[in-house]
Amino acid sequence: MEIAQAFETSFGTKPEVIAQAPGRVNLIGEHIDYSQGLVLPFAIDAVTKSAIRKRDDDQIRIVSAQRPEEMIHSSILELQQKGGTGWSRYVLGVIWALEIKKGLDLYVDGRVPLGAGLSSSAALECSVATGLNHLFQLGKSSTELAQLTQRAENQYVVVPCGIMDQSVSLMAKNGYALLLDCRDLSTQHVPVDFAEAGLRLLIVDTRAHHALIDGGYAERRASCESAAAKLGVASMRELEMQQLERDHDKLTSVEFQRARHAVSEIARVLKAVERLRAKQFLEFGELLNQSHISLRDDYTVSCPELDLVVDTANANGALGARMVGGGFGGSAIALIKDEDAGKISLAIEKAFADAGYQAPRFFDSLPSDGAKVIS
Ligand code: ADP
Ligand code: MG
Repeated sequence: MEIAQAFETSFGTKPEVIAQAPGRVNLIGEHIDYSQGLVLPFAIDAVTKSAIRKRDDDQIRIVSAQRPEEMIHSSILELQQKGGTGWSRYVLGVIWALEIKKGLDLYVDGRVPLGAGLSSSAALECSVATGLNHLFQLGKSSTELAQLTQRAENQYVVVPCGIMDQSVSLMAKNGYALLLDCRDLSTQHVPVDFAEAGLRLLIVDTRAHHALIDGGYAERRASCESAAAKLGVASMRELEMQQLERDHDKLTSVEFQRARHAVSEIARVLKAVERLRAKQFLEFGELLNQSHISLRDDYTVSCPELDLVVDTANANGALGARMVGGGFGGSAIALIKDEDAGKISLAIEKAFADAGYQAPRFFDSLPSDGAKVIS
C-alpha cells in the first residue's frame, strides 16, 4: 500500500508531508569517527519513508509498517522524561531533539533491512527529521539535522553512535560517496563509478552478533584516547605513522596496535578517494583488503564469520573485501565484477553451511540520493 493511503487507514486523515531517507554502507574508514578521522560512506537505494500530520492537541501517535499490530501513544509532555523502550524511541527522540511542541500523527515505512548494519535507525531518524523540518519550516541545514538526529540517538535512544550514519543519510548524492571529516564535519562528494566499470558492491549480513566479551567498543575508544594523551596529540588524526613508530615504547602493545589501525585507516581513506577519482578499482579493492587486515589483526574487532566472507569473496574473484561497522558480527562488503555475483554469493553460502553458521543475507546497491521531501 502507498504510504499516504496507509497513513489514512491508520489515522483517518491525509498526511501533510511525506519524506524519505536512505540507509548506508561505509566503503572505508572504520572505527575512526571517534578518532576525528575520515569516513567514506554512501547511501543505499533502500529508504525509510515517513508520513506526518500535525494534530490540534499535544498527543503523539506513531505506526510503523514493520510493526503493524501496534499503535504507539505518547505526548509532547511525556517526551521530556526521555524514558521508554522499543522502536518508537527512534521517532520520539527526533521529535524531542527538534523541540517540536505540537501533537503529531506519524506513519513510517522502512525498507532498509533492520539490524543488518545498513543503519535502518538513521534512515528512520532522518526521514522523520526531514519531514518535521519541512512541516514546521524549521530551516535547519543538513549538518544541523545530522547533529540533532545523532543527539536523538545518543541521548534519547541511548546508543553511542558517531555522526556518520545520519550525515550520509541526509547529504548523500546519487552516484557519489560522501567523504566526511569527523573533525570539522566538512564533506565532499566523491564519484563512485562502479556500475560503468561492470562492478558492484556486494553486502553480506553474516547475521552473527557476538557478545563483546572484552569490552569491545569502549576499550578501542579508550585505547586511542590514552595513546593520544601519551603521545601529546589531540587525537589519532594528528598522529603520523613515523611518530607512532618512533614513540612505540611510550605505549602499551595494545595501545600501539589500536593507534596503528587508526593512523593507517585514516591514510587509507585518503588513498581510496584518489583511487575512486582515478577509477583505479583494483587498487581501491586492495585498500579494502588492507582495511580488513588492520581491523582483524590490530583492532581485533573481526570474527570468524566476517573473515570467512572476506576470504571466500577474495578466493572467488573479488577485487577486495572487508568487514564493516562495529565488528564482532554484522556485515561485510566485497567489490566484485557483475558476472561473478552469482558465483561469489553461492560460494559464501556454501562456506557458511559447511562451517555450520546461520545462512547469510545478501544485498547490493549503488550510491543513491540522500533524504528528501517527496510530497
Ligand atoms: P541498524 O541501524 O544497523 O539497522 P539498529 O539496531 O541501530 O540497527 O536499529 C534497528 C532498530 O531501529 C530496530 O530494532 C527498530 O527498533 C528501529 N527501527 C528501524 N527502522 C524501523 C521501522 N521502519 N519500524 C520500526 N522500527 C524501526
Ligand atoms: Mg543503527
